[in-house]
Amino acid sequence: MTTAARDVSVFGDAIAHFNEAADLLELDFGMRQILTHPSRQIIFSIPFQRDSGEFEVYTGYRVQYNFARGPAKGGIRFHPGVTLDEVTALAFWMTWKCAVVDLPFGGGKGGVTCDPKTLSSNELERITRRYAAELVEVVGPDKDVPAPDVNTTPQVMAWFMDTYSMHVRQNVTGVVTGKPLEIGGSRGRVEATGRGVTIAALDQMSEMGLAPERSSVVIQGFGNVGMYAAKLFADRGCKVVGISDVTGAYYNEEGIYVGAAMEHVAKHGSLEAFAGGERITNAELLETSCDVLVPAALEKVFTAENAPRVKAKLIVEGANGPTTPEADRIFKERGIIVIPDIMANAGGVTVSYFEWVQDRMGYFWKESEVNERLEDTLLTNLHQLRQIVNTRNVSLRAAAYMLAIERVVKALKLRGIYA
Ligand code: GLU
Repeated sequence: MTTAARDVSVFGDAIAHFNEAADLLELDFGMRQILTHPSRQIIFSIPFQRDSGEFEVYTGYRVQYNFARGPAKGGIRFHPGVTLDEVTALAFWMTWKCAVVDLPFGGGKGGVTCDPKTLSSNELERITRRYAAELVEVVGPDKDVPAPDVNTTPQVMAWFMDTYSMHVRQNVTGVVTGKPLEIGGSRGRVEATGRGVTIAALDQMSEMGLAPERSSVVIQGFGNVGMYAAKLFADRGCKVVGISDVTGAYYNEEGIYVGAAMEHVAKHGSLEAFAGGERITNAELLETSCDVLVPAALEKVFTAENAPRVKAKLIVEGANGPTTPEADRIFKERGIIVIPDIMANAGGVTVSYFEWVQDRMGYFWKESEVNERLEDTLLTNLHQLRQIVNTRNVSLRAAAYMLAIERVVKALKLRGIYA
């Protein structure tokens, strides 16, 4: 896909999902206008020096989409495909994601258009520090709280936190989440998004009468989300028959040994040449017969073109925006259940919220406490979605947007518009 095609369509697709729910809620025109415009979009240049001594300039973004329910919240993405349009869509989704699990946050997202695979650790540090320095005035525990996203690690968060703290001349651990444990991170944060994916999936599987030990799972993407989701599905007795990353896809009817795949990635940096399954294409992976399919990579994986051939019974969106509105309609017609991104992958931001709370208290919880609270938060809100599905006869996605929009609108109305 060309950059131009992405530019016009990622936020556009996101708005289409929103409009469906706004229609069902009979949301008035003015409120739609407010909710389909980002509060603030920041674009800046990031000049940095290569290890070779040469200078280069990258572009950085931070979109603070909505503050009605609290400080903006959302990750920072380092990827060659990052555009203002994509970051805006991701910040828009964060607004609904935080609201659907009832966190006291608005939505935000940031990014740098770069390819971390071509950068040394020192170069990555310089880019991160310059990115953070550019945002000093507009981020902070009560303003906007970034976190990891595609290609950004706890180390990147540590550099961000340190740079911000140096500028304001005091330690401010709560300025970002997803930090290493030693400097104010939360236990359970690294696995949280994958854990949330499995919590939501297993709950839905039990609704559908799919016993874990008789269910097969395919996972597209083996980064922070896909990897831990795969591990936790396997721990619960599911057979993970397919996995993939940017280097290729692997299938094993007998079940892939997830521990071996994780070791392979730890050793070689990717799944390339993984021997635990038969090599297939990414397109074949998405069309494999399975019970549960988890897209855990980037946007626009399911389109009108491939949606008719997807064979899964349940899709759990570990990634943000993997299903285009056209594909969503096809899944609905075909009776394929979709747990939407803003619910399915909300485990990450939920534990980010717990991290922010722990930083503010200066008191850190046991991992079991984090995991219990995570499960409670996700299931309480997922069960509320099901009630909407049953009473309004809508999809889980429409229900999730309806619940989230209602919560944001209530906050907005209580606060009023300052003018
Ligand atoms: N990047 C993650 C997401 O898309 C986590 C955001 C956060 O923890 O703030 O939900």
